[in-house]
Amino acid sequence: MKLDKTNVTITNVQMHLESAFHKFFREPFAGFPRFKSKKSSRKSYTTNVVNGNIFLEGKYFASLLFCCENQTAEKRPAEKFIGIDFAMQGMCVFSTGKRAEYPMFYRNTEKKLAREQRKLSRCQKGSQNYKKQKKRVALCHEKIRNQRKDFQHKLSASLAESFDAVCVEDLNLKGMAGGLHLGKGVHDNGYGLFLSMLEYKLEERGKYLIKVDRYFASSKICSVCRKKKEELSLSDRIYYCECGNRMDRDVNAAVNIMNEGKRIFAECA
Ligand SMILES: [Zn+2]
Repeated sequence: MKLDKTNVTITNVQMHLESAFHKFFREPFAGFPRFKSKKSSRKSYTTNVVNGNIFLEGKYFASLLFCCENQTAEKRPAEKFIGIDFAMQGMCVFSTGKRAEYPMFYRNTEKKLAREQRKLSRCQKGSQNYKKQKKRVALCHEKIRNQRKDFQHKLSASLAESFDAVCVEDLNLKGMAGGLHLGKGVHDNGYGLFLSMLEYKLEERGKYLIKVDRYFASSKICSVCRKKKEELSLSDRIYYCECGNRMDRDVNAAVNIMNEGKRIFAECA
């Protein structure tokens, strides 16, 4: 927000000070006016619109305060289950065989971010161009964050709408990022954020999010005959089993996660 150089700024500060003193003298518990703290104060400033004194540029924020009744619905029996396997780079695979992936425009913004970051690396640190470029990079990051959030909201809403129980792997994100050199992808997915969206959206509808133990061998088990493989490398994209089952690796895992979820659900019920 950009403010013009009218006297509104000074007038406002003076008015705030006046009301602070007014309170101090009139109200029994109001303390003596204090300066903003250098360490912990919010960098905020309140003003009012007079004769078009405020020029807005860029983003607009709106705050709404409202009351609503508790949305949590009564729990109900679960019939429609789905399992989700989270593959790398933000892709998830469902036990139904379908996949969901970040849309193309998200990938495009990612490319743009890489471009802007390259440009930044060529700018001289501290220069005017550097500052401008840094702002562009920050805006790109923000756009990506927003696009990701939007996608996650829509996906979790449609899942919560269509299924009674959603089964997921309770991933240990830190362990995964450290151990497998897949860190960036895992963190970028905002997996934890997605799960919390899913959780409250299901809850609101009286439905269930079932977390399957992270040590459950979802990838190694055959989803048809339940036999477990000893070895399965990350490069094996198709799951083959002696029983004749031949399935996409991630779909096989998602079906296993769903079955395990059903088992847990039956145990708790
Ligand atoms: Zn099998």
